[in-house]
Amino acid sequence: MIVLGLETSCDETAAALVDDSRRIRAERLFSQLEAHRPFGGVVPEVAARAHLEMLDGLITEVMDEAGLNFTDLDGVAATAGPGLIGGLIVGVMTGKAISAVHAKPFIAVNHLEAHALTPRLTAGIAFPYLVLLVSGGHCQLLLAEAVGRYRRLGTTLDDALGEAFDKAAKAVGLGYPGGPAVERWARAGDPARFRLPRPMLGRPDCHFSFSGLKTAVVQTVEALPPGPLSDTDLADLCASFQAAAGDSLVDRTRAAIGMVAARTLVVVGGVAANSYLRGRLQALSESLGVRLVAPPQRLCTDNGAMIAWAGIERLRLGLTDALDVAPRPRWPLDPEAEPVAFAGVKA
Ligand code: AMP
Ligand code: MG
Repeated sequence: MIVLGLETSCDETAAALVDDSRRIRAERLFSQLEAHRPFGGVVPEVAARAHLEMLDGLITEVMDEAGLNFTDLDGVAATAGPGLIGGLIVGVMTGKAISAVHAKPFIAVNHLEAHALTPRLTAGIAFPYLVLLVSGGHCQLLLAEAVGRYRRLGTTLDDALGEAFDKAAKAVGLGYPGGPAVERWARAGDPARFRLPRPMLGRPDCHFSFSGLKTAVVQTVEALPPGPLSDTDLADLCASFQAAAGDSLVDRTRAAIGMVAARTLVVVGGVAANSYLRGRLQALSESLGVRLVAPPQRLCTDNGAMIAWAGIERLRLGLTDALDVAPRPRWPLDPEAEPVAFAGVKA
């Protein structure tokens, strides 16, 4: 069984071919980072146009590399949400067109489900497992019970963790995206120099909140002498922020592990690239006797292989979609989850 996967939900255009023996036959990814950098964030209209320009070429390249024709496919999967509607339309319409012309099943993939299923592609792990999804737009703790069955244990009340890294970076004068720069500067810094809040620490639930921490960074900068920060101040502030974020992340994850007696913890999303945070999660897992699974970085951030794999998982269960299925900018994995304060903001 072999499925073509298309990803266009945010600022990465990607196509990949994956088979049911967990082999990635070919993958291509075009990052639109340079197109958005001047604006300091993702511009939806710019993103949609770039997807439209790039997607067909990437599909041709993966088909050529794998030596396949569309007639060889068992299905076509495209991210149908959640995400920016312009990009979603591009991927979904392209996928539907291939599927209609060649009479192949179409699979409308939930982007969050694809992230959550990635460790089954990379490490073949079995259900159930706990997923910590930390990216620029999402910050959730999910219990993955089966394909299509997820329990949202925790979510953010305000900012996602990657978003907090990006905003903190902006506050200290670093460019976009800020996460990697904050991590680099933090390496040389003193994490105890600035006293920043540890949001949500010790609460019995496992929700997150990061906007107060970001505000504390802004206020700390304002209290320093005006003008650009010295290298020492910059490094110390980055290290203090990262340590505070790490304390909060570890505390919330520990609460979730306890809540469901998890034996396996999976971490995915762009923030999973942070080796300090990975180290903290590794230490937490070891102390609790939990197995930590982190897919390779290129499969933690948005990519086509995870969409193709989610397509395989759903196709195997006969979970295909009609060609009139619509893209969904909001598409919670667990619609039953209890609403939290500022509900829906980052559902
Ligand atoms: P994604 O939303 O999955 O595409 O991931 C992008 C987000 O991950 C952005 O908010 C980045 O700032 C963040 N990110 C990437 N690398 C790192 C890092 N090393 N440390 C912290 N955040 C990071
Ligand atoms: Mg993502």
